[in-house]
Amino acid sequence: MSASANTPSQTRERVLSGMRPTGALHLGHYHGALKNWLRLQSTHDCFFFVADWHALTTHYQQREDIERNVYDMVVDWLAAGIDPEQATLFIQSRMPEHAELFTLLAMSTPSSWLERIPSYKDQVERNRELATYGFLGYPLLQAADILIYKAAGVPVGEDQTSHVEVTREVARRFNRIYSPDAPILPEPQALLTETSRLTGLDGQKMSKSAGNAIAMRDTPEVVESKINTMPTDPQRVRRGDPGDPAHCPVWPLHQVYSDGDTRAWVQQACKTAGIGCLDCKRPLIEAIQKEQAPWRERAQELLADPKKVHWIVEVGTERARAVARKTLREVRGAIGLAY
Ligand code: SF4
Repeated sequence: MSASANTPSQTRERVLSGMRPTGALHLGHYHGALKNWLRLQSTHDCFFFVADWHALTTHYQQREDIERNVYDMVVDWLAAGIDPEQATLFIQSRMPEHAELFTLLAMSTPSSWLERIPSYKDQVERNRELATYGFLGYPLLQAADILIYKAAGVPVGEDQTSHVEVTREVARRFNRIYSPDAPILPEPQALLTETSRLTGLDGQKMSKSAGNAIAMRDTPEVVESKINTMPTDPQRVRRGDPGDPAHCPVWPLHQVYSDGDTRAWVQQACKTAGIGCLDCKRPLIEAIQKEQAPWRERAQELLADPKKVHWIVEVGTERARAVARKTLREVRGAIGLAY
C-alpha cells in the first residue's frame, strides 16, 4: 500500500509520544497518559507509537508475549477513543528508519551527554543487567524517534524533561555541523502535561507488576471485588471507629473519580464514622464501571476483528514511514550520503 507524507492534520503542530508495550492497560495508564493523548489528538497532528525497541532496552531477556502485548495495548488505545483518522498510530520496530537516524546521530553525539542523564547511573547501579550499550543509547534512540518526524512537541512529565533536553542538544549539534545555514532538525519543546497519577489498590503507584492495578477492561464484577477488598484506614477496625481519608488508599481514587459533593460526604462521614467503608466505596465502584463501559464495548468489537486492528497499525506505519523517509533523505543529503 502507499501512503501520503501528508498526515490528516498536517497544518497542526506535530507531537510525538510513545508507550512501551505492557499488554492490556490499566487505569493508571489511562489517567497518566491516554487521557492526555485524547485531548491532544483533536488539537495537534499526533504520532503515537508502540515503543517496543524501548522495552527491549530494559527487558531484552523477556521476549515472551511481546506481539500479544503490542496488539492488546493498541486495542486499549482505540477502545479509549484514540482515533486513527486523527492520529497516526504505528509500531517502532516496523520503522527501521528510526534505527538509521539513531546510527547517524550517534556519530556526532558525545557519549558523556548520555552518561550524565540523571536516571542512567542510578538505574545501572541498581541493576547491572542494564549496563548495556542499548540502555545507554536509549535517550538517543528517543531523540531519533522525535527528530525523524520533526515533532514540535513531546508530552512529558517533569521527570522526563532531561530526555527532551538531550534531543534538543542532539538536533542543535547536528544542524551546526551538517546544515548550519538551514537547520534540518527542529528542536522540540517539552509539553509539560497535566496528568493524574492514579494510585493502586494498596495506595502505591498503580502497576501491573505490583498486582495493585485495575485493568481498563476488567469486568464490572472484578472491579467491584477489587475495590471492596481494598485496605482502608487501619484505624477503622470496627464500623463505629472514626477514620481519616488522608490515611486511606481509597481516598486518592475518590480524588480522581468523585465530584466535590461526594468527596465532601466521604470526608465528613469517614471522620464521624457516619458510613461504613463499603458505603464509601460504592460511588467509586459505580464511577469506574461507568467509565469503563464504552471501552469494554469498543474493545469487544476490535477483539472480534483482529484484522481491523492490524490494518489500522499498518496504515499508520506507512503514513509515518512516508514522513520518516523524507527527513532521512534530507539528513543523508546534509551528511553527504546522498549517493
Ligand atoms: Fe477509607 Fe472511606 Fe473507609 Fe474512610 S470511610 S477509611 S475514606 S474507605
